[in-house]
Amino acid sequence: MITTEMYFGSKPHGEGHTAAALDLLGRRNALRVEWCQATGKECPIDPDTGTEISGTRGGNGDGGFRLATATTGKLSSSHKEARAVDDYDGPGNEFDTWLDQFEVPMPDGSAGGNAKLEQHGLYREHPDATPTWVHLTTRAPGSGRRTFQP
Ligand SMILES: [Zn+2]
Repeated sequence: MITTEMYFGSKPHGEGHTAAALDLLGRRNALRVEWCQATGKECPIDPDTGTEISGTRGGNGDGGFRLATATTGKLSSSHKEARAVDDYDGPGNEFDTWLDQFEVPMPDGSAGGNAKLEQHGLYREHPDATPTWVHLTTRAPGSGRRTFQP
């Protein structure tokens, strides 16, 4: 379970951010409940953050909300809109691997559809780009792919 308190920490944010984070985390937590039930496991805790959010200890480059001034990631990062979270995926990448089984072709036959992510209204960065976390976002990429290359 990731709460908005964990997501924002002490970072100042507006009402729009709170609403976006509640939507994002509600979707993420529901998806993780399914994962827990399917695997019989509990969500791993990142020792650096003490939560299910991936990050570095005391670093600005954490996987929760990012201030507009953050230098981690892209300038227009969905983390700054409170529409993305980096879900800690331990050393084994088990969550990504579980999600892989739901991959389906896009309507045009190309790769990048995902039935489970679509069910929950989420998108993720391709596992190749996220070795120990899963970047989940409610912001659709331009390609519309549920699993997209950052
Ligand atoms: Zn991310």
